[in-house]
Amino acid sequence: MQIEAWELFTVPLVLREPFVAAHSSVTVREVLLVRVLADGVEGWSECGVLPEAGYGHDSVASAAELLRTVALPTLATSGSVESHRVVHLLARLAGHREVVAAAEAAVLDAECRRDGVSMAARLSELSGWASCTGIPAGVALGIAAEPREVAASAATFVEAGYARVKVKIAPGADWEVLRAVRNATDVELCADANGAYAADDLDSLVSFEEFGLGFLEQPFGRSDLATHAALARRTVTPVCLDESVVSAAGLDEAADAGACSVLNLKWSRVGGLHEALRILERCRARGVDAWVGGMLSSGVGRAADVALASLSTVTMTGDISESRRYFDSDLTEPFVLSGGSIAVPDGPGLGVAVDTERIRSQASAHWSHAD
Ligand code: MG
Repeated sequence: MQIEAWELFTVPLVLREPFVAAHSSVTVREVLLVRVLADGVEGWSECGVLPEAGYGHDSVASAAELLRTVALPTLATSGSVESHRVVHLLARLAGHREVVAAAEAAVLDAECRRDGVSMAARLSELSGWASCTGIPAGVALGIAAEPREVAASAATFVEAGYARVKVKIAPGADWEVLRAVRNATDVELCADANGAYAADDLDSLVSFEEFGLGFLEQPFGRSDLATHAALARRTVTPVCLDESVVSAAGLDEAADAGACSVLNLKWSRVGGLHEALRILERCRARGVDAWVGGMLSSGVGRAADVALASLSTVTMTGDISESRRYFDSDLTEPFVLSGGSIAVPDGPGLGVAVDTERIRSQASAHWSHAD
């Protein structure tokens, strides 16, 4: 496709409640959106970065700068662009995976809209795996002052039809909250530490076995496969990696080390949807379960998450919630939970109508090829 025009927006969306994890707290989700116009059709994507760098390599500000000054101008002057070639065209941005992923996803959306196929159908076609029409919903709960608050919240979500509850934990904010949630509901319960523990916490992490967790996610630092492997040898709780795995080769390295039996897959973290498909192939080959994580995304990013999560190689319930879990009003029509599942959009591309008028009127920053 020939990129004829591009735009970049940041839109502040206020979360219904602040979201607190071990090393981050988000109150206003500054959503970074890419719009391309190619061969006469639009393509949209959301860049999976948080306001501050840390979880990812870039912040919203640094990712916007790279998209504006490097990624989008490069694609616009590259002649014919195909989504699977974007990562090569943007090789100089290697390492800035969320930036490359956002550029690639916008081109992929435009390709799907041009061809009249949904993103889910295209990912199914590219991978050879079946795509389902609805996915089970999961919810991630942030760290709160009182364990009982988290437990009450968990019970409410389970009542609404959520199939899985994941609780953010950190040293000193773990055992009590897991106990409270476990007592409040018998739903599948998991925990995510965002790398907040160290090797001398192994004993206490092993003691979480009493909660029958579906998995324990990223207890140690992102480069510390050895300690994850040491934990996996000592506990029956499945160890899940998130931050540590940023490529298909990285998944193989983690599997070789015995560092995980579960993967939280985020297409933004691994540099795009095409790499995400390669990782799913490796997960299947290595016997690693996979599920799709979220980034407090608006409907634009959520639509791509849902399309990826619809594939049969995604073997576990992910972190994908309905839109109102985070926002009173979204930038697309809301994703809703109905009969215990979230429908996979079947319209062309992302399959959601992007509220362009709202984006233009509420953007805190806007750049385009014409600037
Ligand atoms: Mg995580």
